Amino acid sequence: MPVAERLTTWKVELARLCQPYTNSKICFDVPLSKQTYFGIGGRASAYLEVGEIDLLVAVARFKNDYRLDTFILGRGSNLLVSDKGFDGLVIRLVGQLDWLTFEGTSALAGAGVSQPKLSKASARQGLSGVEFALGIPGSVGGGLMMNAGAWGSCFSDLVTQIRVVTESGEIVEISADQAKFEYRQSCLDDYFCIIEAEMQLVESEIDTVTQQMQQLYQQKMETQPFVVGSAGCMFKNPEGHSAGRLIDLCSLKGTRIGDAEVSQIHGNFIVNHGNASAKDILDLVELIQLEVKKQRSIDLHLEVKLLGL
Ligand SMILES: Cc1cc2nc3c(=O)[nH]c(=O)nc-3n(C[C@H](O)[C@H](O)[C@H](O)COP(=O)(O)OP(=O)(O)OC[C@H]3O[C@@H](n4cnc5c(N)ncnc54)[C@H](O)[C@@H]3O)c2cc1C
Repeated sequence: MPVAERLTTWKVELARLCQPYTNSKICFDVPLSKQTYFGIGGRASAYLEVGEIDLLVAVARFKNDYRLDTFILGRGSNLLVSDKGFDGLVIRLVGQLDWLTFEGTSALAGAGVSQPKLSKASARQGLSGVEFALGIPGSVGGGLMMNAGAWGSCFSDLVTQIRVVTESGEIVEISADQAKFEYRQSCLDDYFCIIEAEMQLVESEIDTVTQQMQQLYQQKMETQPFVVGSAGCMFKNPEGHSAGRLIDLCSLKGTRIGDAEVSQIHGNFIVNHGNASAKDILDLVELIQLEVKKQRSIDLHLEVKLLGL
């Protein structure tokens, strides 16, 4: 099939594929700036809120047939989207993929569940381990992909099993070892989509867990910029260093390009004061990398994921 014909056909066929699934919604030409914590990004050709696992599986196969680029969006809290947007299908998990239950000391969560919800619900069960996640505004899927964490804890400390949809549309279980978790990364992007995870928590007292969770949250509020748009820490901490401290030592806090600024509160956050573009953010990223290399001879690598860039 010629490329031009394939381009128009896939939208029609995708709308047809989604039609019977009443918990899912397909839209076209959707601005991604509203879907990211940065508040930045052009339009996606198509945006699917998928509420049924069967549809997700069908979409995995569909994208292969149509050679369609796809991107799984969590809460967009670790993401910078191009000003030109994304020429493909963005998928967000809702409905059947956004659920949470407990069995003994295990938490079973759909990948669409928010991390703060997981943290609060675990505290209500008197289960300890995920207190760190109250201040992480992402989904469980995004948390697993990034091996998100704070205060010395992270998802890989807890996860025992993960269920994914493969690129060819099979549902498979993988172990934590197979996910190859490392500091703020995993090999889960080898699969099409993470759909659920089992986490092993530790029995404790409701009051103790709640207090610990709230204390960590309070500390985060006091040391990180939570009000304006950002994507959390821009850079991974280089071995033996804090990226925020290095940026601070290079006197880069407050450096601004357009509406993008190195946060005055935490050097590893870049904040959007309203109208920053993805280009402003990337220019600032480059400036920081060059200056830290020049002054401290250390390479900073991005933690934030890029889409369409
Ligand atoms: C104010 C603020 C504070 C933050 N604090 C922290 C912190 O303390 N610690 C920390 O680690 N991070 C922190 N972050 C970053 C971010 O919240 C985490 O990385 C979070 O886990 C990302 O989840 P998300 O759902 O938003 O993922 P997104 O940003 O939407 O996506 C991130 C990556 O995960 C992939 N992904 C998401 N869901 C799935 C899925 N179901 N299947 C396959 N791939 C998927 C995406 O494709 C993308 O590659 C912070 C961010 C902000 C804005």
